Amino acid sequence: MKKMVICESCGAEFERSLIRCPYCKTAYLPAEEEEYMGKLEGIHKELKDVPKNTEKKLDKKIFGFTGVIVSLIITIVLLTAGAFFLSGIAKKFKDRQEKKEFLQNQGVVSEQQEENEK
Ligand SMILES: [Zn+2]
Repeated sequence: MKKMVICESCGAEFERSLIRCPYCKTAYLPAEEEEYMGKLEGIHKELKDVPKNTEKKLDKKIFGFTGVIVSLIITIVLLTAGAFFLSGIAKKFKDRQEKKEFLQNQGVVSEQQEENEK
């Protein structure tokens, strides 16, 4: 038995499975939604039909490849960050050393004062 619905727009009766009222062409949303859901279900089924082994293998392959790339990127980032950090420290140290030497040359800071500061 076919389920009938009443068109919201013109009041005509038509099959529930129709997406639009055959008289006034008003979209019948529940049917449209059902069709959409049906399509989704179909896609879902297709996905499920893919042999699980293949899926797993593919997953592993993709993950392995991505894993290698990601760890490479992380390593590079860490190395770069480390190099920047070290060069920053070296620069600071060098600057301080130069400043100290400059001040000592100017006679502003004596060796004695330097000792007291520590
Ligand atoms: Zn209608």
